[in-house]
Amino acid sequence: MGKVKIGALKTLGILGGGQLAAMMSEAAKRLGFKVVILAQSPDSPAVKLADQFFLGSLNDRAALSSLADACDVLTLENEFVDSQLLADLERSGHCVRPSSSCLSLIQDKFFQKRELSRQGIPVPRFAEASSVEEIISTAKKWGGAVMIKKRRNAYDGRGNAVARSEEEIKSAWEFLKGDAESLYAEEFCLFEKELAVIVSVSQNKEAAVYPVAETIQENHVCRAVLVPASIDEPTAVRASEIALKAVEGIGGVGSMGVELFLRKDGEILVNEISPRVHNSGHYTIEACESSQFDNHVRAVFDLPLGSAALKEKAAAMVNLLGIEKGDGIPKGLDEARAVSGASVHLYGKKESFPGRKMGHVTALGPNPAEALKTAQKAAAAIQFGAPSRRSS
Ligand code: ATP
Ligand code: MG
Repeated sequence: MGKVKIGALKTLGILGGGQLAAMMSEAAKRLGFKVVILAQSPDSPAVKLADQFFLGSLNDRAALSSLADACDVLTLENEFVDSQLLADLERSGHCVRPSSSCLSLIQDKFFQKRELSRQGIPVPRFAEASSVEEIISTAKKWGGAVMIKKRRNAYDGRGNAVARSEEEIKSAWEFLKGDAESLYAEEFCLFEKELAVIVSVSQNKEAAVYPVAETIQENHVCRAVLVPASIDEPTAVRASEIALKAVEGIGGVGSMGVELFLRKDGEILVNEISPRVHNSGHYTIEACESSQFDNHVRAVFDLPLGSAALKEKAAAMVNLLGIEKGDGIPKGLDEARAVSGASVHLYGKKESFPGRKMGHVTALGPNPAEALKTAQKAAAAIQFGAPSRRSS
């Protein structure tokens, strides 16, 4: 099939139609690009922002091919795609950024860790986990608890299980539906903080590294992000260097989130890289000279990158998570709007369910604690899928 251009302007193609695609689309449009997306549903958040959209599964060869034909650069908001299909598109001359080989390395957390470790990037100890017996023997060797993880397609901690005994290893194996190839083991890290750094790298190797953020997780889901992280300067410098080395090391192009553990002894370990814009970088929309979305679009189109510097001293972002199953209509918006300095982002999802990311609130401030107070005040007023406390 020949290239069908939807306009004279250059077009960004995005695989996926969720909130990350929506925020990427807004950035692309501000730079004068057209946007075409492949979404799974006409209700997907990015559909209304796109100039054109295709509906289909992200692994539907025909839909992918239509998307690729309609754009100049194909990028993604979701790493759970078949990298072989993307490799086929590359072979037929399409530009996929980040590349299919970068994606296939990252998609398997065990391969990702092995590659990072091969490059001398610090990661938690990890090992193959092809049977219960193998994990038990690894746990004995390491001492302490092990984190057993699904190698592929895991998010929000749903593919992880901690095991502190042989019995728990057996139940984790059952729970995660283990087989010879699907899991791997990591040492359980007693970290002091979780950090995250957004790194943008362009095709021509220019890089922008955002400030080190501190992420607060509850039940393995990110609740809040504080910037800058309350760590000393040498630690921040080391975290930035490790994050940049990690993204460059896997051949990343675009904006990527690097999740890090900071241990009590000061050691920094890479937990994982997300090969796409990241929830921990949403604060960059209001807080930085150029957002992670802006720099993602710049990076994949080989444009000069914008500055990742903070515009204010500090920022905080609070995720708005669904409380119950419901219709996705937020309650308490008036109360949230009354909070001066809080920017409320609603993703427009048609349905809420417990833990689903429905929006986020960002606030700037003189320090992270003040910014968090503002963001939390607005966030606390908004509820999805729960009885109204106050009508809006
Ligand atoms: P997400 O989609 O939120 O990034 P995920 O499913 O990819 O999550 P991970 O990032 O591997 O999962 O882990 C989720 C959380 O579990 C981490 O943010 C951290 O709090 C905890 N965790 C992961 N690995 C370890 C470890 N080795 N030791 C201790 N805690 C860990
Ligand atoms: Mg993670």
